[in-house]
Amino acid sequence: MLVTGDRIHCFGKSRDLKDKIAGETRVVDCENRSLLPGFIDAHNHVTLLGASLRASKFHYPAVACIEDVVSVVKTAAAEKAPGEWIRGWGLDYGKFPGAKAPTRWDIDAVSPDHPVCIVHYTGHYVLVNTKALELAGIDDSVSDPKGGRFIRDEAGRITGLAQDAAQQMVVPTSVRVGHHGPDIGYDTPIDELVEDIACASSALLEKGVTAVVDPQVTTREMKGLIEARERGRLGVRTVAMYLSNHLDAQLEMGITGAFGNDMLAIGPVKFYCDGAIVGGSAAFTEALNNRDDGYSGSLYWEDAQILKETLARTHASGLQFGIHTQGDRAHDIMLEGVDALLSEHPREDHRHRIEHCGYPRPDQVKKIAACGMLPITQPGQLREAGDNLVDNYGEARATRIYPLREFLDNDIPAVISSDAFVQSHDPLDTIRGAVERISITGKDMGKDQRITMEEAVRCHTHNAALSFFREEEIGSLEPGMLADVVLLSGDLLSAAPEDLEELRVTMTMLGGEIAYEA
Ligand SMILES: [Zn+2]
Repeated sequence: MLVTGDRIHCFGKSRDLKDKIAGETRVVDCENRSLLPGFIDAHNHVTLLGASLRASKFHYPAVACIEDVVSVVKTAAAEKAPGEWIRGWGLDYGKFPGAKAPTRWDIDAVSPDHPVCIVHYTGHYVLVNTKALELAGIDDSVSDPKGGRFIRDEAGRITGLAQDAAQQMVVPTSVRVGHHGPDIGYDTPIDELVEDIACASSALLEKGVTAVVDPQVTTREMKGLIEARERGRLGVRTVAMYLSNHLDAQLEMGITGAFGNDMLAIGPVKFYCDGAIVGGSAAFTEALNNRDDGYSGSLYWEDAQILKETLARTHASGLQFGIHTQGDRAHDIMLEGVDALLSEHPREDHRHRIEHCGYPRPDQVKKIAACGMLPITQPGQLREAGDNLVDNYGEARATRIYPLREFLDNDIPAVISSDAFVQSHDPLDTIRGAVERISITGKDMGKDQRITMEEAVRCHTHNAALSFFREEEIGSLEPGMLADVVLLSGDLLSAAPEDLEELRVTMTMLGGEIAYEA
């Protein structure tokens, strides 16, 4: 492959290409290695990934019990001035002994002078201490907001755990998103945001990712992305999905289609239908596995009709959207809405996306194909969080989460992505989840839904580019396309899933420039 400027020029045998190279050309021998299009992570919270990489770590298994949580908070408190926030990421108490969740009382003793906020690894819960609650002016008398709740003890006291829409009541955020989604836009100074984005960019290039879609952007993330770009710190191509709370502003400004350039662009509008699949708040028609109270998940929009009308308005304006949809009850609502808007305003090639598309029933998969939608899945979760999925939904449901085989067999151009910060941002981990479908503890996560290595690579490159209308520029290696390329240390296509751990990225090229080299 010969690259000139930022583009792929042509392919040929090295002896033929030798005639075409001049003076400063660098020659790289790719023998026994894999040369692939740069991975495109079509659902990656890039700003939050950076924040999570830079914050105190509460990830399992390093933090495996309540005492571990306390000790990480204690260490952070010793390093920070009184009054400064202690921010943490990755809490996964579902894996603690007895799945016992930590409370504010556990951490209060080691953080009397610091407000603390620890984000659950799904982003759908936060744990705060009493100091943070005081700052927010919240006590046990608070009532649950629409689309969220405060976890309480038997005496009805709030424990410090806040779910979904309740998060924004306890953590200072710069943009209030209400019922439009989980409030994860913490109030962060611009210099910090730029550092977060720079940190995430380097981490991604190191794993061969050259483009991402940030699936939840508000003015907060956009300011950070623009400033990072301005300062030369945005290292990966980024497409921003503005959250639906900004829809009216976007339409008023006349942004009714893709907008931006190669490096930073505005893409589809992001909607949320239901809660998270990991952690158990996705909306199913049947109750969750371990719930005798009949709880079957939660929806963000109290009135499904208003959601459907807003989707229709977005579509009619010419915009593309992506809607977070996990459980089959949520799929029923979403597909009814999409069916109606397509019959009212038929549009060829709209490419509306289903973010996650965790558990569509077989009849819903057929509808997804008929509607021409693209599922943006996260099979890395099957490995990382498979046990949690089985606990929450039972084996029968858990083993058909992200039914990738069925998607491809129905000619649906499915996409695989990481949902980092939630899961590993390493594409090889995502690919492993899709081709292997075995949890980290060895549970079968539905082998009949496996896809091949080649299919998985396509789902992480070409199909991903399709999901934001950029397949003519990136996502495959063809003359004239942008030279976004990754070189792996061995042969990916013939690797067994367990061999993927051995493969390394030896070089990442972005627009013809070497952006990472091992
Ligand atoms: Zn996400």
